[in-house]
Amino acid sequence: MNYLTLKPVNEAVELFRGFAALDAERVRVESAVGRVLAEDVASPEAVPAFDRATMDGYAVRARDTHGASESMPAYLKVVGRVPMGAVFGRAIGSEEAAEIGTGGAMPEGADAVVMVEYTRRAGGDVVEVVKAGAAGDSLIRRGEDIAEGGVMLRAGHALRVQDVGALAAVGIREVSVRRRPLVAILSTGNELVATDATPGPGQVRDINSLCLARQVEALGGIATIAGIARDDERELEAKLVKCAESADVVLLSGGSSVGARDLTGTVFEKVGATIVLHGISIAPGKPTILATWHGKPIVGMPGYPVSSMVVFWIFGAALLGALEGRPKAADPMARAFPTRVEGRLVRNVASKPGREDYVRVKVAPNGDVEPILLGTATLSTLMRADGLVRVPRELEGLAAGTAVNVFRF
Ligand code: AMP
Ligand code: MG
Repeated sequence: MNYLTLKPVNEAVELFRGFAALDAERVRVESAVGRVLAEDVASPEAVPAFDRATMDGYAVRARDTHGASESMPAYLKVVGRVPMGAVFGRAIGSEEAAEIGTGGAMPEGADAVVMVEYTRRAGGDVVEVVKAGAAGDSLIRRGEDIAEGGVMLRAGHALRVQDVGALAAVGIREVSVRRRPLVAILSTGNELVATDATPGPGQVRDINSLCLARQVEALGGIATIAGIARDDERELEAKLVKCAESADVVLLSGGSSVGARDLTGTVFEKVGATIVLHGISIAPGKPTILATWHGKPIVGMPGYPVSSMVVFWIFGAALLGALEGRPKAADPMARAFPTRVEGRLVRNVASKPGREDYVRVKVAPNGDVEPILLGTATLSTLMRADGLVRVPRELEGLAAGTAVNVFRF
């Protein structure tokens, strides 16, 4: 395997998005925030279930107020007060009114609410209405908010707090959502030790497992850390298969390049996986592999933590989104970076044409965007950065002064 066929980012994204959604499961609405609907949800009930006042005032027949003004009020007979949470005992007749509070059920016969501000209580049970009203004023009709039988939420929609509130409002207790992707994370490298170990000479701590696990969780997946494999074909094969058998996705970081000690591609082939792509024209993140093992995605992530993180934010997010049945975002970065800010580059950024670059940047409050021009090998570039700026594939860089969008962390 070699890098002769580096995939452009957009083509690679489509390959990562090409996986079918996982099966569905039913969850209670209170634990459904963030989950993606597996099917359309129709409302079994109308909301509101009855015509309701939306203001404090008087329920009236609108025609009884026609022509009413400050100088020529309409005089209506107050026949009682609509109780909250119950219905008014009788219909509103001609030139009658009932006091009503916001949310009260409209009595029979009444077709409008006159806001209390447009009334004056005359003596006894008489109210003066000083403004003409029309049928439908200050009320919401049965089913006007959510229609009975109508689709209220579509398959593929990620539920938010307001959505589960609406589901609860129509009496739905459970919804069918996509299973959360189970992601097994494995690191490889003879130099790696666990984060809680003290590295010996030449050793470094395994950062990718921890970072990838948190990234997976941030995008709705369930991460399991499978530990560290030596750069040894047998060991890698055994651990990879074990991960692939028990998870929906495997992320194996390290060894994904094309050097002699880079075994990931070889091991993917050894276990019978089909390589979908090896190498993406992106920086950081070129040595990325996508393969399928019995239809499951297994990914060779770059070893450098900065590259691994950036690759996950773009391609990992696209993959998890597909498995959860999310609609494709126009920009694959949108999932991991919901916030974009505009700014202006204060320095030139060089880039190789044909390659899409993601430059770590600092953003000042005045919109100045300062590129952090240090190599992929330095974790501190990401630590110091506020976000990423994309240098499009066809450009040889961006000149100082260029207006840019920052994908903000
Ligand atoms: P590789 O892709 O295996 O050649 O790794 C590239 C660089 O990333 C090397 O400096 C590795 O030591 C480093 N690296 C690989 N995996 C990890 C990891 N899990 N945590 C921290 N550094 C890593
Ligand atoms: Mg390595």
